[in-house]
Amino acid sequence: MKLINPATGETIREVANDTNSTINEKFKDAKATQPAWAAKKLEDRVQIIQKFHDLLKTNIEPLAKDLSREVGKPLAEARNEINGACYRIRFFLENSAKWLLEQKLNHEGTTEEFLSHDPLGVIANISAWNYPFLVGVNVFIPALIAGNAVLYKPSEYATITGLNIEKLLHEAGVPKSVFSAVVGAREAGEALLLLDFDGYFFTGSYQTGKHIAERVAHKLVPVGLELGGKDPLYVTDEITDLQKVAAGVVEGCFYNNGQSCCAVERVYVHTRNYDAFLKYFIEETKKLTHGDPSEEKFSQGAITRPVHVDFLVDQVKDAVSKGAVIATGGNKGNSKGAFFEPTVLTNVNHTMRVMKEETFGPVVGIQKVKDDAEAIKLMQDCEYGLTASVYSHNIARAKSILSAVDAGTSYINCCDRVSPYLPWSGRKNSGLGLTLSFMGILAFTKPRGWHIRAP
Ligand code: NAD
Repeated sequence: MKLINPATGETIREVANDTNSTINEKFKDAKATQPAWAAKKLEDRVQIIQKFHDLLKTNIEPLAKDLSREVGKPLAEARNEINGACYRIRFFLENSAKWLLEQKLNHEGTTEEFLSHDPLGVIANISAWNYPFLVGVNVFIPALIAGNAVLYKPSEYATITGLNIEKLLHEAGVPKSVFSAVVGAREAGEALLLLDFDGYFFTGSYQTGKHIAERVAHKLVPVGLELGGKDPLYVTDEITDLQKVAAGVVEGCFYNNGQSCCAVERVYVHTRNYDAFLKYFIEETKKLTHGDPSEEKFSQGAITRPVHVDFLVDQVKDAVSKGAVIATGGNKGNSKGAFFEPTVLTNVNHTMRVMKEETFGPVVGIQKVKDDAEAIKLMQDCEYGLTASVYSHNIARAKSILSAVDAGTSYINCCDRVSPYLPWSGRKNSGLGLTLSFMGILAFTKPRGWHIRAP
């Protein structure tokens, strides 16, 4: 497989894909060694993951360079991602014992009742390219700490990062057969679906996630799906600091070129604030610059999957043909790399693809609404349910609006953020199950109830 730098179109490296036979071999080895890994003391596994954390920190520069080169994100964002992954790993290191160790929950006469947690066994982790460190650690770190073995298939667009992760986990002390990377695209993913894993954990598009869930349903093992989004944000009438709010929302829309599952993809603004907000929003968007992500001067890098540029062109065309106005941007770059200008569309409505279908790129539509009821109706008019955001000085009002929107995460006066302390879960077509938080530690275990009566 040729690994291409999306900013230049040049080949970075060629790698050999895994085949059915190498994947079967890795699976067999993982099955054979997982019990010994699970039998280790929890504190020993925690110590090994601590070492992995430290290795990420000491190797941040070469890791960030590789990441930036293969997915096209600016170097500064690549460093942020690795630091963010380290923060999440520290959460797991500090909180796993509290949730994984055996607990006594009750006693009845001479019978004591305990809860313990067994690892699932050997799990498949099929992953995405947009934040390969972050979405990866959400799964394989708690899975390894709980005593599972993992076959990790990085996205074909983040293969080098996947191999770097594998190398550092082994260097930290995770046995080779307990964590192995599977190199390849769709075919390699399909090969994983044929094997008898004890759980499937997927991050990626709704279409692939649904396909995976259907293919493995008969195995009756846990399936976790972290899928796409079309995340709405509503600016109410009582907001006054519109310039500051607009700057924050621009970041929520365009960070990582909008290639975030929780990027803000549609903005609704109360009539009273619409004109002023739009003016600031366009001004802030025009400050963004795009170019070679290895040069620190650009805020935006390349579009990771070059074929996606035409998808963005089509979505914008569809909107314009139905009456949308391009307030800024709208064009693809004219260099060899894959670039698209940060684009703001106005005069939009829900007959346009851009307001209903995941964009996953630097394009956002801004729509005027007359009141909270209309905002709620439009925020809900979508097949995804990952996050939703409301800007309001009245927290009770914002809470009441967000309670009417079916999304796994609600933001008040902020957007596009993830905390390891809270569950990350999508509703509707945005997913099934969750990662992060104490529930994302337990997600990689099977509960066992113990009834122990004195002899
Ligand atoms: P994708 O669905 O194209 O690919 C994801 C992974 O699935 C890749 O590793 C790919 O090789 C593999 N795959 C593809 N076809 C397969 C098949 N038939 N069987 C098994 N595996 C297969 O998604 P992507 O382009 O890598 O990622 C972008 C999507 O991920 C967006 O929709 C984004 O919103 C979503 N995402 C969601 C979250 C979240 O936490 N909810 C986080 C990041 C990305």
